[in-house]
Amino acid sequence: MPDQALVRNSLSMSVEKRCCEAEVEDKRRHNREFMRQWRSDPFHLAAEKAKRRERYYAVQKQRKIERESSSPRVREQTARLCGFCFKRAAVRKIVRLRISESAPDGYVKVRIPYCGHC
Ligand SMILES: [Zn+2]
Repeated sequence: MPDQALVRNSLSMSVEKRCCEAEVEDKRRHNREFMRQWRSDPFHLAAEKAKRRERYYAVQKQRKIERESSSPRVREQTARLCGFCFKRAAVRKIVRLRISESAPDGYVKVRIPYCGHC
């Protein structure tokens, strides 16, 4: 027979985990709605586009420099790193928007390696 205190402890931990997941999901939903509303202002949308474009080209320029200056082995290791921090190993890929002049709404979805922390 399992120890009652141990069972209670694991049950309360799973309840806490579910609460935490629900809070995180609520926060994400709130942030998503806030950003939708924020983007509905044309001034904000234009500012965000300009910021994304600037950041995108800065990252592309940095990657080109790194690619050209690194060995094939380093390049292979870099490919497995997080696409945001470039420090931790990527554990999954996430979808983000990239600026595209040819796309009807100006953005295309891209899959980026992600470490799960940043
Ligand atoms: Zn990262």
